[in-house]
Formats: sequence, structure tokens, C-alpha cells
Amino acid sequence: MNNIRLKLLTYGLLAYILLAFLWWSVLLFTKNRDAFQAKVDKWQLVLAARGQISNPDEFLETDFYQDLRRDYQRQEWMIVTEGIVLLGGVIVGIYFVYRGYRREVWTTKQQRNFLLSITHELKSPISGIRLILETFHNRKELPPAIHEKLTTSGLRETDRLTGLVEDLLLSAKLESRHYELHREALDLGEILVDSAEKVQSKYPTARIELDIEEDLPFFFGDSAAITSVALNLVENAAKYSQPEPLIQITLHRRGEEFHLSVADNGPGIADSDKKRIWQRFYRVGSEDTRMTKGTGLGLYIVHQLVELHGGAIQVVDHAPGGSRFEVRL
Ligand code: ADP
Repeated sequence: MNNIRLKLLTYGLLAYILLAFLWWSVLLFTKNRDAFQAKVDKWQLVLAARGQISNPDEFLETDFYQDLRRDYQRQEWMIVTEGIVLLGGVIVGIYFVYRGYRREVWTTKQQRNFLLSITHELKSPISGIRLILETFHNRKELPPAIHEKLTTSGLRETDRLTGLVEDLLLSAKLESRHYELHREALDLGEILVDSAEKVQSKYPTARIELDIEEDLPFFFGDSAAITSVALNLVENAAKYSQPEPLIQITLHRRGEEFHLSVADNGPGIADSDKKRIWQRFYRVGSEDTRMTKGTGLGLYIVHQLVELHGGAIQVVDHAPGGSRFEVRL
């Protein structure tokens, strides 16, 4: 409600400024014309009284009248051009204030989203680990199968926490441009196969198809970075295409470039979000209604790492449904 009132007040004030500006311009314009007419009338009378002109129309042919008219026209032009410049300045100023306001709202929303998602992402593994430790504490003798299951689950949760912390550190390094690439010869096909296997074990219902060109040369890149790119893309494809993800991964060489793509059968990404998903902490929709886990860091990291390698990434619609992430390296 407060927000609406503030908006109404701002728009009202802006409308008032513009209308007041218009009114003052018109007033100045008419006052200038009246002043000119008054001068003409005065000099017509003065010259007629002095006997220098026999009728008022003769005054209009004098050099003096022409000078007066030139002055008047110059002032008219001055009012018009200054009015336009001032109005332009006011409009540009309003635009910048509005843009700053929109950015502020956007940043606040992103920060709120990030806080909500990161709290959730931290809370669930911590409570998972606590529950496991409590079980170990309360029941000293556990059957080996349950012991094994609990330890595996505990380790998985700590891996999740480590992954999250690593993502945060990596994104901070990328943001401050402190990430250094350690390039070495990489087999991109192998990295994709490994990523697909990892995602497959985490999402057993996913069907992953790989189409990797044979005998591809090595790619010189940072192993951790390229693995992170592949894993993030394949994992997102599985995460956002539930319950039965169909993921198609391709890798081909076109001239000097490697073309890698990861397509899924999920809901796809709206055109308005296609540019935003690369921003840090951006997640489609609102944190209050979203069901999937995440922090909005993955695609930011992917985008930055691809660009650090001199490559490019884009997302397009995938037929018949879903999205396709295309990377050129
Ligand atoms: P996270 O997955 O942690 O939310 P990302 O940076 O990886 O963060 O992704 C940003 C947003 O882009 C996600 O919240 C999701 O809405 C959208 N997104 C990413 N990958 C896909 C995909 N394959 N299909 C549909 N939406 C996606």
C-alpha cells in the first residue's frame, strides 16, 4: 500500500513539474509577444506625435521596427530552444532517477531471494547431519546396513555443504576478477561423460543421451572450470526437467571451435529471463513459491568461466519443449 502511495506521489509530482514547466513556457512566450506589441504601439504613437510618420502602417516599414522585430524573434527562439533543452534535461533526469529506483528494487529483491535460498540450502544439510549424529548418539548398536546408509547420507550432505561453500568462494573470486585459469590439455568428451555419470547417479530417473564426436583433439583449458561448466549444465537439465528428464548432450568440432550443447525436456526459459539467468543470485520466479533447490550461482559461474576461456554461451528453446544451452569454446 505504502509503495502504491509513494508511486502515486512520485507520478503526481512529475506531472506537476512537467505541467508547471509547460505553463511557464507558454506564459513567457505570450509575455514576450505582449511586450513586443506594447513597444510597437508606443513607438507608433511617439513617431506619429513627432510627425515622423503620417499613419501607423508607415512605422512597419522603418528600420527601427525591423530591429525591434528581429529582437523579438531572437527572444522567441531563445525561449523555444532553452525550453527544449531544459525539458530534455528534466526528462533525462527523471529517466535516470527512475532507472536507479528500478535497480534498487531489483537488487533488494535479488538479495532477499538469495538470503532465503542460501538459508534453505544451508539448513537442510545441517539438519540432515544433526539427525544422523543424533541417531548415532542415541543408538550405540546399529545394524551395519543402517550404519552404512546413514554414513553415506551424512557424507553426501557434507559434500553438498562443501559444494555450496565452494560455489560461493568461486563466485566471489570471479566477481573480483581474482580467478586464474590453469590451462592444460583436456578431453572434453571425457569430462562430459563423467558429468553425465555423476548426474545419473544423483537423478536415477534421468535418461541421458550422449553424442560426442570421435577423435576430437584436446582442448586447452582449466580442468576444474570446464568440469564445473559441464556439471552445472547437466545437473540443471536434470533438476529442472522432473519427473522424467531426457537430457541430450552433444559435442562437435566446427573449424577451430568446440560446440557443446545440453538440451532437456523441462519447462524451458521465458525470453524475458534468457538474459537474466546469467546474473549472480538470479533465479526464475519467487523464492516464496519455488519448489527447486538452488542459489542462483550456477549459471553465473558457468557464464563467467566460459567467457574467461574466450568462449560464449547462450540458451535457446529446444524443440519440442525445454531449453538448450549452447557453449562455444
Ligand atoms: P540455481 O539452479 O541454483 O537456481 P542457476 O544459476 O543454475 O541457479 O540457474 C538460474 C535459474 O535459471 C534457475 O533458478 C532456473 O530457474 C533457470 N534454469 C537454469 N537451468 C534451467 C533449465 N535447464 N531449464 C529451465 N530453467 C533453468
